[in-house]
Amino acid sequence: MNSMIVVSGGAGFIGSHLCERLLKEGNRVICIDNFVTGRKENVQHLLQDEKFSLVEQDITKPFSLDEKVEQVYNMASPASPVDFAKIPLEILAVNSVGTRNMLDLASLNKARFLESSTSEVYGEPLEHPQKETYWGNVNSIGERSCYDEGKRFSEALVMAYAREKELETRIVRIFNTFGPRMRKDDGRAIPNFVSQALEGKPLTVYGKGKQTRSFCFVSDQVDGQIKLMNSGYGLPVNVGNPVEITILELAEKVIELVESKSKIDFKPLPKDDPTRRMPDISLAKKEIGWQPKVKWEDGLKQTIDWFKKPFFPG
Ligand code: UDP
Repeated sequence: MNSMIVVSGGAGFIGSHLCERLLKEGNRVICIDNFVTGRKENVQHLLQDEKFSLVEQDITKPFSLDEKVEQVYNMASPASPVDFAKIPLEILAVNSVGTRNMLDLASLNKARFLESSTSEVYGEPLEHPQKETYWGNVNSIGERSCYDEGKRFSEALVMAYAREKELETRIVRIFNTFGPRMRKDDGRAIPNFVSQALEGKPLTVYGKGKQTRSFCFVSDQVDGQIKLMNSGYGLPVNVGNPVEITILELAEKVIELVESKSKIDFKPLPKDDPTRRMPDISLAKKEIGWQPKVKWEDGLKQTIDWFKKPFFPG
């Protein structure tokens, strides 16, 4: 492949792994980021590659690119519940105005567009596991609504561009994904538990830890997104690991792998925290020939090793 590809949010956790993989496959990559939750360090090691360029830009503000672009991955959005509480207006803006600007960029270039949506569109799911045909159960005024509704709106925008402007679009619904380059302070379960265990502090399990999630390693996530972009399938596709575990199990596994003496400290459950979440990935298998390869425990070991490094390894 030798395409010109734009990745907004390319200095973020998933975005930076995506840029790296696209470059490895021989493409040219323009990474756009405003570093609200992304970090320059995430892509520092790519800067010497002449096929890579980094543009500091808030995608909610008008901008243009000189190059002709063939594919656009819209990965820009804060995605941690901690961000939902701190910067809800920015999250709503990036998933509406920001997504629209990226869609216009794709339209102008007649490029193919991929939107990074989320399992959060299913809200507190009444269907389990979640299939793409499930319409969801979202609290439109709750503390997570800036993200859940922001992403639901972005999916609606994408489908409107596909229908009205005949843009070639793809929507990936990302389920919980983890790996190196997650922010230590991003507030999600894996970075919290790993850093707490490494520091010998108690692991903060919310509620009784009975809620479930299904954790996908970032290399698998990126693989699914690239397969989806290059497929012929225009409706949303779940990309996540269909192995469901409780949060307490996760905390205990982290303690075991770190060989930590940390205890578990049960804290109040945040509002609207989904009780169960697990993707049905039969559509991904059928339409894009994808399923995860990395076991969550193996991915967790790699993530722990990365968090152990005293400097920012990139
Ligand atoms: N969680 C927890 N302790 C933490 C951080 C998160 O018990 O220190 C729980 C959280 O309540 C949720 C699950 O872990 O039930 C996954 O949370 P995360 O923020 O990683 O992702 P999301 O809620 O977006 O799935």
